Amino acid sequence: MRNVAIVLAGGNGSRMNSKIKKQYLQIGNYPVLWYSLRTFQNSPWIDEIVLVCGAGEIKRCRDQFVDQYGLSKIGKIVAGGRERYHSVYEGLKAAENCDNVLIHDGARPFISEEILNRIFDTLKQCPACVTGMPVKDTIKIGSTDGYVEQTLPREKLWLIQTPQSFSYSLIRQAYDELIRREKEAETQNDVERKITDDAMVVETILQTPVKLIKGSYDNIKITTPEDLVLAKTLADRYR
Ligand code: C5P
Repeated sequence: MRNVAIVLAGGNGSRMNSKIKKQYLQIGNYPVLWYSLRTFQNSPWIDEIVLVCGAGEIKRCRDQFVDQYGLSKIGKIVAGGRERYHSVYEGLKAAENCDNVLIHDGARPFISEEILNRIFDTLKQCPACVTGMPVKDTIKIGSTDGYVEQTLPREKLWLIQTPQSFSYSLIRQAYDELIRREKEAETQNDVERKITDDAMVVETILQTPVKLIKGSYDNIKITTPEDLVLAKTLADRYR
């Protein structure tokens, strides 16, 4: 079995209000992106890492992550695209000839070998799974004029994280079809508005069931400045 981790670092992170893109901000002595790359590097499950970054960042990423930090499993570094799902597609094309892919946000530093064990146990029986955690808060749908429209049943709600993991042939088929439909669509907006994660592509295009497995409450995505404060506390457990 050949397993590839696609790590996404091609976003601009505009909600961070920082000149430096959030994946390159420091948590302790290392950039955000280093933490998850290091976990994949050390995991016996992972054969290769494909890093997806901004078009002008390929050399800088190679210098820093491959040469300076010695993350030798990074086999390919490719430029991402305008939306997250375009970046995923570039990663998928670079990851050819593998059995399974894990698609991971480089902005989520704190994955663990325990999560990877759960993913690969699940992939033995099921070709699509996503990590997430049961929600702790009550979630309501709000109307456009600011009133509660509906309260959702909390016991069925999960906050979805990454890695999102698939057999390569399944996710590639789903993304090929998504990109084909996008090219066909009169306005790209219709496609973009709907796609918020990879599992959705498999759910909606191929109607394949996607298994939910536990990630961890540490597996936060760095999005706004408060997340960085929390990350600095969590980092001690992941160095
Ligand atoms: O913006 P958001 O936090 O949802 O992005 C999730 C991940 O996807 C980040 O790691 C980001 O760098 C990546 N991304 C990407 N290409 C884009 C947009 C986001 O690789 N066009």
